[in-house]
Amino acid sequence: MGTEADRPTLTGPAGAEAEARLAELARHTLFDGQAVTDEARLRRIAAHHDPHVYPGTFVTCVYNPDRALCRTSADPGEHPAMADCQPLACRNTALTSANLHALTDHLTQLEIALADDNHLAPYNRHRLQEQHRVTAVFLARHDPASAE
Ligand code: SF4
Repeated sequence: MGTEADRPTLTGPAGAEAEARLAELARHTLFDGQAVTDEARLRRIAAHHDPHVYPGTFVTCVYNPDRALCRTSADPGEHPAMADCQPLACRNTALTSANLHALTDHLTQLEIALADDNHLAPYNRHRLQEQHRVTAVFLARHDPASAE
C-alpha cells in the first residue's frame, strides 16, 4: 500500500471528498509512522474503512447512493452501477490526472470525427457535437490546466 505522498490529487465535483476519504483510509494504514504491511490486518482495515472510491478510465467515482445518477431511489445499492455511469453530470465524480488525460483524448477524438463531416449522418453529427460541447464545458470547469 502506498504512502500519503503516493496518492493522486483529485479534482472535480467530488474531488475534495475523495481526498478526505483516502486520507482517512491512509490514517488507518499507518502505525507509528510505518505503513501497515500485514495482509490480514490490511484486509480488516479495508473492510472497516472502505472509502467507496472506484477508479475508472474517465472518472473516479466517490460513491454516495443518495446522489448517484446510475441508481434510482428504489434501488440505491451499496456500490455504483458503473455500466450506467453518467460521468459528466453526476456529483459523485472526481478526477485524477489520468482521468483528465483520458477526457482530453476523448475530446480530441470527437474533434477528429467531426472534422470528417462528409461521412456523418445529420443525427450522428448532432450527437457528436453535443458530446463535444458537454465534454469541453466539463473540462473547462474541472481541469486545473484549463484555468492557467
Ligand atoms: S453515475 Fe458514475 S460517478 Fe455517479 S455514482 Fe454512478 S458510477 Fe459513480
